[in-house]
Amino acid sequence: MLCEIKNALTFDLEEYFQVSNFQNKIRFEDWDGFESRLAIGLDKILDILEKNKVKATFFVLGWVAERQKNLVKKIDDLGHEIANHGYSHQLIYNQTPDEFRQDLRKSKTILEDIIQKPIFGYRAPSFSITPKSIWAIDILIEEGFKYDSSIFPIYHDKGGIPNVNRFLYKIERNGKEIQLRESLDLIFLLLEAVIYGFFLTGL
Ligand SMILES: [Zn+2]
Repeated sequence: MLCEIKNALTFDLEEYFQVSNFQNKIRFEDWDGFESRLAIGLDKILDILEKNKVKATFFVLGWVAERQKNLVKKIDDLGHEIANHGYSHQLIYNQTPDEFRQDLRKSKTILEDIIQKPIFGYRAPSFSITPKSIWAIDILIEEGFKYDSSIFPIYHDKGGIPNVNRFLYKIERNGKEIQLRESLDLIFLLLEAVIYGFFLTGL
């Protein structure tokens, strides 16, 4: 089912050492040993958004939120939407459905505790909801999510479903529905390149 078209500006809030392309070099267990540089880029982005009176959605990694509650609170206080980017940034098709559900719940709980509001949106690490992990959509519906932004409508090295509908649409399961907002975030990629000094790496 097609929905009305809207423009949306979104960001994934995660550290430079958490991107998927570093997964073979930097273990999850070692993340705490790295310096956080998140606030440097985030403050610049928030300033630009404020100056231009633009509101955005921030898909926040639960691991980050757990350690930097102030950043999440700041984004929320400025009127932007906080959404879920999972907890541990594991690719969806590398998890079992139960592992995915636990990761999803963990980050949702952390985020909702910080902002004291329900979280409705989700984006998978590296757009890793693909034909082999499409079962994740059913879990998102079961867990109360209202929209998903995890499917890259072109080929991507770690995700993507080419030829999928590029406009907003809804699917329904057992009387519950979810809106699929596919992502083609070239602006985000460019911002990431400026802030972190790399290009098209992990997402
Ligand atoms: Zn990410």
